[in-house]
Amino acid sequence: MLDNLTQRLAKVVKTMRGEARLTEANTAEMLREVRMALLEADVALPAVREFIAKVKEKALGEEVIGSLSPGQALVGVVQRELAALMGADLGPEASQLSFAQQPPAIILMAGLQGVGKTTTTGKLAKYLKEQKKKKVLTVSADVYRPAAIAQLESVTKQVGADFFPSSATDKPVDIALAALDWAKKHYHDVLIIDTAGRLGIDEAMMQEIAAVHAAVNPVETLFVVDAMLGQDAINTAKAFNDALPLTGIVLTKLDGDSRGGAALSVRHVTGKPIKFAGVSEKLDGLEAFDPSRMANRVLG
Ligand code: GDP
Repeated sequence: MLDNLTQRLAKVVKTMRGEARLTEANTAEMLREVRMALLEADVALPAVREFIAKVKEKALGEEVIGSLSPGQALVGVVQRELAALMGADLGPEASQLSFAQQPPAIILMAGLQGVGKTTTTGKLAKYLKEQKKKKVLTVSADVYRPAAIAQLESVTKQVGADFFPSSATDKPVDIALAALDWAKKHYHDVLIIDTAGRLGIDEAMMQEIAAVHAAVNPVETLFVVDAMLGQDAINTAKAFNDALPLTGIVLTKLDGDSRGGAALSVRHVTGKPIKFAGVSEKLDGLEAFDPSRMANRVLG
């Protein structure tokens, strides 16, 4: 069992009780522990480096108040900064979905295969239908796996939203435009477009999803990422962020036992808000993302 960060720092700082301020000298060893804790939570190294630099800047000169030890004072700074980085500073609006002035609002789902895009599409349809009272249409532009289209149809039916059938012989851009046309004619408030994912980053896939984006101009482009994904999260996020103007992130599989360092890596690369967390395989397993809770989880 790994110690949590507070316990780890407590071990390091036993010898320096009574110090009134956090200084370069008394934080150096503790910052090494913070760094280790983040790496163990699978946060990618560039994100760790940036974070440690920020914590150092904030911590130096910080007063160690009352009965706190320097370690506790530093944990406070780390927790605050991590929550801020996870989006606490962006305010509660950052996790809200935007809706187009002129319906339908289009939501484009992007991400690698297996991360939970189709499941999340179903979860979002349910959330928008039940919580926001929207009339929702879904469509799959995944023409590579016929099973993907059938899977989206199944989850859409389960949540009682409308499904626009597509065929594996159609082109993704044509599918998206046909679904948009249908949504307009049938007064849907929201159209969610599920897209193909590959096992790895693939130039052709990026061009294809960028073309779909350009054709329909979505109000939300959500990057879906698996919280179990370790160091790779940073490369995937970078590739999608370069190819598409992302508006938000959905972090899936938070019910797994990962510490979720991917959240920090993805925030580091994209700067975009994490809007939702997937917390189960079931279609009601979608929650608004909670930056402070995520910060505590990453710290162990
Ligand atoms: P896609 O290829 O990105 O469309 O991924 P799918 O939606 O098909 O999901 C891949 C697998 O991940 C399926 O077995 C889903 O049930 C599962 N999954 C998706 N989201 C979650 C989640 O939040 N928690 C858990 N435990 N499983 C999830």
